[in-house]
Amino acid sequence: MSFTSLGLPQSLQKALEDQKYTEAYPIQKEAIPAILKKKDVLGIAQTGSGKTASYVLPILSNLQGASISKNRHIKTLVLVPTRELAAQVLEVFEQFSTALADPIKCLAVHGGVSINPQMKAMNKVDVLVATPGRLLELEDSNAVHLSEIETLVLDEADKMLNLGFADEMNRIFSLLPKKRQNLLFSATLSKNVEDVNQVLLKDPLVIKI
Ligand code: AMP
Repeated sequence: MSFTSLGLPQSLQKALEDQKYTEAYPIQKEAIPAILKKKDVLGIAQTGSGKTASYVLPILSNLQGASISKNRHIKTLVLVPTRELAAQVLEVFEQFSTALADPIKCLAVHGGVSINPQMKAMNKVDVLVATPGRLLELEDSNAVHLSEIETLVLDEADKMLNLGFADEMNRIFSLLPKKRQNLLFSATLSKNVEDVNQVLLKDPLVIKI
């Protein structure tokens, strides 16, 4: 199935064509229309399934034309377990955001490197990709405000929980506005992930690949 009937704007369809994404992968076929409608989604899918583009494309579409982010108030938060995944996810956001008429600013933050450059880069960021510990450090330093988040993504949620980030994740959830879209992606539906699903997601579309 091609991307044309999934509801994405022309600019993104053109970018997909340019990058030789001719057919939508199964998870993309299901997730993209639901995320465009602001539904919650639980996606059980492995790396390699195309899960990243399945949320990046509709999030960029929903952000297009939205009011510009206020200083240090981000709109979309993507929580990831590792710096490697943070870099990969940022790359996919940047791969497609350049195709849009309105610039959308994306940034990745993670531990293991100095925090100061990350604080300075936080100006007018729309999409923040973050590991939980570093996000809380930035929040504690007042370098980022989470009160205007419209969409929360948990990517590789099982790995994030296995690495012991549950407390950090719960603290982050408590800082977010109640009304928001939640997207949870995980390779497995473990008991831990099911618990987060129960607390976080409202009437989600469940996709198992
Ligand atoms: P992911 O599962 O998100 O890590 O994506 C796996 C790989 O598939 C990445 O290298 C993507 O660039 C590529 N990819 C994702 N969706 C498509 C698609 N519809 N057509 C071609 N390549 C894709």
